[in-house]
Amino acid sequence: MTMTRGYRQIACRNCLARYKEPNYTSINLTAAERWSDGRRVRSLFDNGYGIRVCKCGKYYRLHEAIDMGLLTAPQIQEIEVDEQGDQVYHIPAFLLRQADDSIMDSLKSDTKSIVKKIKSFIFKKNIEVKRTKKVIVQQPLNAEIVEKIPNAIVVRDSEMYEIIRDKEEYSDALVLAARERYRMHLNDKYREPIKDYCKDRSRPIPDYEISDEHLANTKEILSSYFNSENIDWVDLGDLYRELGEFAKALECFEKAKRSEHNEADLEKFLRATNQKISNPLPI
Ligand SMILES: [Zn+2]
Repeated sequence: MTMTRGYRQIACRNCLARYKEPNYTSINLTAAERWSDGRRVRSLFDNGYGIRVCKCGKYYRLHEAIDMGLLTAPQIQEIEVDEQGDQVYHIPAFLLRQADDSIMDSLKSDTKSIVKKIKSFIFKKNIEVKRTKKVIVQQPLNAEIVEKIPNAIVVRDSEMYEIIRDKEEYSDALVLAARERYRMHLNDKYREPIKDYCKDRSRPIPDYEISDEHLANTKEILSSYFNSENIDWVDLGDLYRELGEFAKALECFEKAKRSEHNEADLEKFLRATNQKISNPLPI
């Protein structure tokens, strides 16, 4: 299950603007649809490869933002409770004297909360004061403080070309993540069963055709994959399949170590490659 607890506070390295992001304690990668190029539809966890944009116009990865820690870090506090679990208050001596002197009625009109505490104390004192225990309670920070900090701004896939265009300004990791998302965006019109990405269902899915922009982007991703320390031969082969380089795709699939995690995907990719199909595949 995807679960969050509080928020993580981050700041833009360019202008120091502050934002908040949900603090994930566990994630679930299940999605209604998964595709060979990484597209996941109606996913239980989709943080968009961690790419956000600041109001100053700069894009950033969540990993690369200034980490300001948990916004709702629980405040640990030790309190004393009675056997019913109600908090026991320690009343200052001068108030006790007043309570014992029967001036509680005069306090009632002014300070209801103090009266309540005194009453509570006297009541508990009369029954059994000793039955108390120390417990740890966690209290979240003031919700108003959290509310004032804006959520980090997510970015549409189609906007990724701005990062690719201005790649000198950004880290290699951010540019690669942007390329991956732009690849999915360019592939969207070739997805057959999907409804979310095909706006006009009356039109047939076009034949897969790689534009110059699409080709250049995919080749850049391919070289990044090639230069990575641990080459994922399945992913690499599938990129070649998308580029229509079927022989090279098969070579990569040959090198891939089969495991229970990639077995099913690999079979689909091999079948499509042998049939010379370049389209993104549902997996
Ligand atoms: Zn900024």
